[in-house]
Amino acid sequence: MTYKIGIGYDIHRLVEERKLLLGGVEIPCIKGLFGHSDADVLLHAITDALLGAAGLGDIGEQFPDTDPQYHGASSASLLKTVLGLVREKGFLIVNVDTVIIAEKPVLSPFKKHIQESVAQTLDIKSDCVSIKAKTNEGLGELGENKAIATYAVVLLSKGE
Ligand code: MG
Repeated sequence: MTYKIGIGYDIHRLVEERKLLLGGVEIPCIKGLFGHSDADVLLHAITDALLGAAGLGDIGEQFPDTDPQYHGASSASLLKTVLGLVREKGFLIVNVDTVIIAEKPVLSPFKKHIQESVAQTLDIKSDCVSIKAKTNEGLGELGENKAIATYAVVLLSKGE
């Protein structure tokens, strides 16, 4: 059995009059994430972790933000496209671990729903997905609620 690990990171600015999508779940909030796509910062980090583990580059190479076909794109559908590429290379997902850094809103009531949504998108069991949320202790731009950042680690396996 071969194992490959990948890391992903993303950050998006919080602005008014945008939806806040995390892991495909719409979170009630007066601000949302700005971006070319639907700006799902968690799915972007997971997508990059998958690409990294499979040796397939990064999300910007796969889906250039200069390409108008990705304007307003569903991050879940981009992630499913990447999942297909990963499977074509013979990899299976062992597990996904993530951290969301958001000063507001409080995410603990939504973590279970986000976990199930991510697992469904990746077509894996929900206990193979971990969602952790924390604040930035009021420090810096994240602490001032100007942005939400995410980290993701993915482990892939291949072979017997
Ligand atoms: Mg992004």
